[in-house]
Amino acid sequence: MMLLDTCIAIILIFTAGSNANCYYIGNENEAVLIDAGLSCRETDKRMKRLGLDISLVKAIFISHEHADHIAGLRVLSKKYKLPVYITQNTLRNCDLEIEKSLTFSFVHAQTISIGTLSIIPFIKSHDANDPHSFIVSNNKVHVGVITDIGYACKHVIQHFKLCDAVFLESNYCEQMLENGSYPFHLKRRISSKKGHLSNDQALELFLKHKPESLQLLILSHLSQNNNHPDIVNKLFAQHAGGVKVVIASRHQETELFNIESNPLLRPIRIVKRLKVNIAQLSLFDPINIES
Ligand SMILES: [Zn+2]
Ligand SMILES: [Zn+2]
Repeated sequence: MMLLDTCIAIILIFTAGSNANCYYIGNENEAVLIDAGLSCRETDKRMKRLGLDISLVKAIFISHEHADHIAGLRVLSKKYKLPVYITQNTLRNCDLEIEKSLTFSFVHAQTISIGTLSIIPFIKSHDANDPHSFIVSNNKVHVGVITDIGYACKHVIQHFKLCDAVFLESNYCEQMLENGSYPFHLKRRISSKKGHLSNDQALELFLKHKPESLQLLILSHLSQNNNHPDIVNKLFAQHAGGVKVVIASRHQETELFNIESNPLLRPIRIVKRLKVNIAQLSLFDPINIES
């Protein structure tokens, strides 16, 4: 049966000590990767383990130039001849050789179609050259990938309000960061408006702007040193309401989530094997303090 309103979300975690972000969102015919922080080999391995076929991936979109988002890009694009959507400013600040014919630029709020998927980039506040987040839509399902944000600016709020499912950064516990061993300048950088979103800031965004349509909240990009999944879980569990909350672990992949557009259908299903129609996969590893 064709489930045209359906998306699947998976989060895969790179090995501890490494940092990698890569989110896969797609349908039965095509998919995109948001960021390519995992090595090509690891991306292959994890997709195979989940029964996902790399041939479904039609393009890679890059949010910004930090290493945890682009480390696997060159090889992945070259091996599979995958088009890379990356802004000129970001590309200029990447030390990467990507085949010119495979490189495409984008601008804020420009809708890009990949088959029946629509990808809308939007600007965000982060200490990179031209950072963007994305909404990927399939039919009536909208999935947000919103990480590496210093604060919830108007663009983040506006797009968060559209989401049926969202990967939202919940990077650090404010007390842990404050009392931790990071040097002062790093603490200041992380908590600045161009750094990362704290657990409390993520919760505030969720509570103030959670749309009726939101079914799945995947808290992502947790700091290894300044956060703990139990803290995030405890904080959000009491406020989840009807929303399914998932905390991205750094040690193992999440399930495959099947998201349908009609919230009345209670649409979250967990799909263990690939027989899916529309897929969303996230390959994710928590924050590198430089990223
Ligand atoms: Zn970053
Ligand atoms: Zn990052």
